[in-house]
Amino acid sequence: MPDGSLTDLLRHGYLPGQERIADAYGRTFTYLRVSVTDHCNLRCVYCMPEEGVPWLPREELLSFEEIVTVVQAAAACGVYKIRITGGEPLVRKGIETLTGMLARVPGITDLAMTTNGVMLGEYAPKLAAAGLKRINVSLDTLDPEKFRAIARRGNLGDVLAGLRAAEAAGLAPVKVNMVVLGGLNDAEAEAFAALTLEQPVEMRFIEYMPLEEAKGCAMGSGGFGFVPNETTKARIAARFGALEPLEVGDGMKGPAEVWKIRGAAGRLGFISAMSAPFCKLCDRLRLTCTGEVRSCLLDGGGVEIKSILRGGGRRDDLIAAFRRAAHLKPEVHKAWDEIPAANMSRIGG
Ligand code: SAM
Ligand code: SF4
Repeated sequence: MPDGSLTDLLRHGYLPGQERIADAYGRTFTYLRVSVTDHCNLRCVYCMPEEGVPWLPREELLSFEEIVTVVQAAAACGVYKIRITGGEPLVRKGIETLTGMLARVPGITDLAMTTNGVMLGEYAPKLAAAGLKRINVSLDTLDPEKFRAIARRGNLGDVLAGLRAAEAAGLAPVKVNMVVLGGLNDAEAEAFAALTLEQPVEMRFIEYMPLEEAKGCAMGSGGFGFVPNETTKARIAARFGALEPLEVGDGMKGPAEVWKIRGAAGRLGFISAMSAPFCKLCDRLRLTCTGEVRSCLLDGGGVEIKSILRGGGRRDDLIAAFRRAAHLKPEVHKAWDEIPAANMSRIGG
């Protein structure tokens, strides 16, 4: 995390004297996740209903210029890391242009994306050329039939081709996100973990979070069950032997607890938002595709900034909005039954 030192300036472009965004509990914000669209070419069971969600009209979404204005204001107060997400970011037309615009914002030294990978075969080289540094690809199964059951659209072969293209384009380290769903894909945890034996990928096991659209699917109502990451970790350890904990260096710190199979080339990340909330470490703000700043995915409360952007986009007003959003951040997010309705694809997962 930047501390305003000369090292920061060199590493993150963070300028001493800039006022950082902080909340009531002493957390400072250096990371902004940007949802660029609510649209998606898949319908993952844990994220959206099969028929999709009512897509927002184009004018509701922030333009590229508006997104860049927000990111410039965020960079002026110490944000150095941006993740482009959605919805599916690759379905937003001209995404490589936006990527290039964000890569050129002074102070942004870490530009990443989360994608379902379906269109990555085509986009990986363009994104890398535009300045994208790293990529997370969501992939919940290695079985083509199950892929259709979980994602309901698209096909596994395209995602695997996307992963290969990301590697070839140098978008390293490639991270693979798997949401572990009891009764659907939990038995594949070992197969996913095995991918790290030979390849320097980070395999991330994500606990299901009960957000609005998929709530009805979880917990035994005909869909899937919740699997705590301790269970996933134990089944991987039973297959590969005791896992080794890894020290995570600066720039890698985050919600994932990182482990390794002895002798493996890659790493295992466990993101346990529900069973072991990592709120204390959470240094992220979120920009929704409709122009709201939020400081927590699992708690209510956002600050509307589209009117600021469309009324001249004064930097001071944007920074004041970031601060208000930061102060809405709870010390720890709400418990399972109290998580308010929210739409993951609009907020940006
Ligand atoms: N469409 C892109 C993708 O799937 O990677 C980016 C957006 S998606 C909302 C971002 C991440 O959120 C994905 O890794 C997805 O698996 C995860 N996600 C979506 N709904 C979730 C839920 N209810 N619980 C846990 N993770 C979820
Ligand atoms: Fe689309 Fe990503 Fe949600 Fe799946 S998780 S439906 S790919 S936005």
